[in-house]
Amino acid sequence: MIHRTAAPLQNITNKDQQLIISDRCAAADKLPHSWQEQLQHAISDPAQLLSLLELDTTYLDAAQKAATLFPLRVPLSFIARMKKGDINDPLLQQVLPINAEHIETEGYSKDPVEEQSGEINGLIHKYHGRALLMVNGHCAINCRYCFRRHFPYDEHKLSREQWGDVIQHLRDDESITEVIYSGGDPLASNDKQLRWLTEQIADIQHVKRLRIHSRLPIVIPSRITDTCLEWMSSSRLSVVMVLHSNHSNELADHTLQTAIQRMKSVGITVLNQAVLLKGVNDNLAAQVQLSETLFEIGVLPYYLHVLDKVQGSAHFAISDASAKQLHAQVTTQLPGYLVPKLVREVSDKPSKVLI
Ligand SMILES: *Cc1c(COP(=O)(O)O)cnc(C)c1O
Ligand code: SF4
Repeated sequence: MIHRTAAPLQNITNKDQQLIISDRCAAADKLPHSWQEQLQHAISDPAQLLSLLELDTTYLDAAQKAATLFPLRVPLSFIARMKKGDINDPLLQQVLPINAEHIETEGYSKDPVEEQSGEINGLIHKYHGRALLMVNGHCAINCRYCFRRHFPYDEHKLSREQWGDVIQHLRDDESITEVIYSGGDPLASNDKQLRWLTEQIADIQHVKRLRIHSRLPIVIPSRITDTCLEWMSSSRLSVVMVLHSNHSNELADHTLQTAIQRMKSVGITVLNQAVLLKGVNDNLAAQVQLSETLFEIGVLPYYLHVLDKVQGSAHFAISDASAKQLHAQVTTQLPGYLVPKLVREVSDKPSKVLI
């Protein structure tokens, strides 16, 4: 039995799951757009976003101006989970460009985690045993709070030869037991490239695990295709998918729930990381609901990050003291395994830092 306080999602039993999965498989080729088309047709015009949400043009001028700092980008399938007419919708708040982004705040920088100082192109090996690969510079969605808003990602497109260097580094360093696909969003790459890369990595004996950090299954759930499941599950590597969802409303999508069940059915461990964001999820109810809903659909909460201090995002910030207080409240409301670790990324530390 699943007990919950609110019910935006339908409860799925194991038997129903099988039915849903076979149903989706049959229906998949009837869908009008492939994930690539959904990616391509993501909304980038603020006027169009406001109009789809039946919001008036009061917000248009600010949105257009702030979109020149970092473009608006949001797929229709994500917009479909927003509430019409609500400027405070927690999903909209994550993507709508606003005036506050122009404010320069002391202590905020353009590269808060100093990722631009990596040594090997496309590879960050900062933590013991784990090497992070910048597989793709693109994202399906532009989150306003992201450090990527100032990152010259397009310069990070690697040639085959550079990929060779990355793989050689992984091969030469026997302490590396886990490879992390990151970005941008690694799943913005096509399955052919990802299969090739995964085969190269599976060929390195000391690598045991493949981790994929992606928001794409959340924003365009149809990204988890049969072909995608195939390369993820066919190598000898154990696979961990770390999703990025900040609010339970993001999870109210049938295709997403099916995608997660399918990943789990091929043995993938599915976790979630979230960012603590003012006006989005900075209250007890939102945090409890996120953890509860994640569990219902088969995902365990992993990290709750405090905001990286990136210029133009200070309006999303919560003080450490408030973050700790909220986290302590969450701890009193949920079983331990549903409480994410509250962390911060600090550039010269050997791990994420607990707050
Ligand atoms: C976050 C991160 C990792 C993974 O850290 P975990 O604590 O294992 O999740 C690895 N490398 C880099 C550079 C990171 O930023
Ligand atoms: S890297 Fe993640 S947080 Fe940043 S824009 Fe892409 S999906 Fe959003």
